[in-house]
Amino acid sequence: MRSFTLGRVIPLVEVSVADSAERTFRVADVTAAELPLRDARRRPLRDLRISVTDRCNFRCIYCMPKEVFGRDYAFLPRRELLSFEEIERIARVFVGLGVEKVRLTGGEPLLRKDLEYLVERLATLRTPRDEDIDLTLTTNGSLLSRKVQSLRDAGLKRISVSLDAIDESVFQQMNGVDFPAALVLEGIDAALHVGLSPVKVNMVVKRGVNDTQILPMAGHFRGTGVELRFIEFMDVGTSNGWNMESVVPSSEVVGCIDAAFPLAPVGREKSSDTSVRFRYADGQGTIGIISSVSQPFCGDCTRLRLSADGQLFTCLFASHGLDIRAPIRNGESDDALRRRVADLWRRRADRYSELRGENSAALNQHRVDMSFIGG
Ligand code: SAM
Ligand code: SF4
Ligand code: SF4
Repeated sequence: MRSFTLGRVIPLVEVSVADSAERTFRVADVTAAELPLRDARRRPLRDLRISVTDRCNFRCIYCMPKEVFGRDYAFLPRRELLSFEEIERIARVFVGLGVEKVRLTGGEPLLRKDLEYLVERLATLRTPRDEDIDLTLTTNGSLLSRKVQSLRDAGLKRISVSLDAIDESVFQQMNGVDFPAALVLEGIDAALHVGLSPVKVNMVVKRGVNDTQILPMAGHFRGTGVELRFIEFMDVGTSNGWNMESVVPSSEVVGCIDAAFPLAPVGREKSSDTSVRFRYADGQGTIGIISSVSQPFCGDCTRLRLSADGQLFTCLFASHGLDIRAPIRNGESDDALRRRVADLWRRRADRYSELRGENSAALNQHRVDMSFIGG
C-alpha cells in the first residue's frame, strides 16, 4: 500500500478553548475598507452555517447517541427557534460583512417545516459585489427524495448528503434508528436527477464500526459524478464517547483507496475548504478527505455558526455562544447587529483542533453538541 504524507500530524489530546463570546458587547463601527472582516488571527469571515433545528430523526452513534438523546431529551421548544424572517435578516447582515457561503444544517434541516421558504429567501441574497451567495445544505438524506424538487425550485443549487455505509446492517448500526441506506441512496439519485451540482456525500469513519465500508463506498460512487468525502471522527460535544483509537486518520483512508483505485493528489480548491481532494487516476472522479483531527486547518477557518435558537459560535468546539436572538427580539437595528457581530469576529482567536496536542487541561470541558450547531 502506498503511503501519503498529509503534513504534520497532531497528537490527539483535548484542550480548553478561550471563549470569545462571553465578553460584553462593545460598539465599534465597520468600515467598507475593513471588509472582509478579519479575526484576531487575520482570518476573514466568509462562511455562515445556520442550524434550523436541533432535532433529528437519526441517532448517529457519533453525534446523537440514543443513550443520551432518548425519549425524554429536552429539545428546543418552537418559540425558541429563530423564525425564517429572523434567519434571513441575520444572514443578510452577515453577507454585508463579507460572508459568501451559507450552509443550512441542523439537527436534520429537512425536518424544519417549509424549509423551501427559507431557501427561497436566502437564494436571493447578493454579496456587496452583487454576486449570488453560495447556498448549500447538509442533510442525512432521509427525506430528500420527497423534498429535493421543491428545494431545487426554491433556488438551492448544491447539496451534501451524509451516508456512512452502503451495507445495510453497518449503516443501520451507525444511524441508530435502523434507517435503510437504500432510501438515502434514492435521495442522492433524486438530487442528481433534479440537477443539483455538485452533490457531495459525507462519510464519517469510525474505527471498528464502518471502516470496512471505505472501499465499498468508494467503489459505489466512483464514476457517478458524486464526490465522496471522508470525515475523521471528531471529539465534538461530550456525548459521543470519542477516543483517539476510534479515529481512522485520512492518510489511512487514502492509502486504502489508492491500493484499489490509484489516486493522484489535487489539493484544496480554496484555502478555506475543509476538504483536500484526490482524483482517480483513471478519470472516474474525485474524493475528498476532511482531516479535522490528524491535520487541523484552523489557520484557514473562516466559519461562524448560528444555532437554531440564535446563538453565534466562533468554533465547532466552543462551549458558549453569543445570543443575538434577544437583541433582535428587543428591536435592535441592523446597524447595531452588524457592529455586535463584527465585534465578535474581530476578537475571535479559536483554534481548538490545532491546540489538541498542546494542552490537556480541559479534558472534561463542556462543548456544545454538533447536532446543536451543525457540521
Ligand atoms: N443531519 C444532517 C446530516 O447528518 O448531514 C446535518 C447535521 S450533521 C451534525 C452535519 C455533519 O456533521 C454530518 O455530515 C455528520 O456526519 C457530521 N458529524 C456529526 N458528528 C460528527 C463527529 N463526531 N465527527 C465528525 N463528523 C460529525
Ligand atoms: Fe442527525 Fe446528522 Fe447528527 Fe446523524 S449526524 S444524528 S443525521 S444531526
Ligand atoms: Fe475552525 Fe474551530 Fe474547527 Fe479550528 S477547531 S477549524 S477554529 S471550527
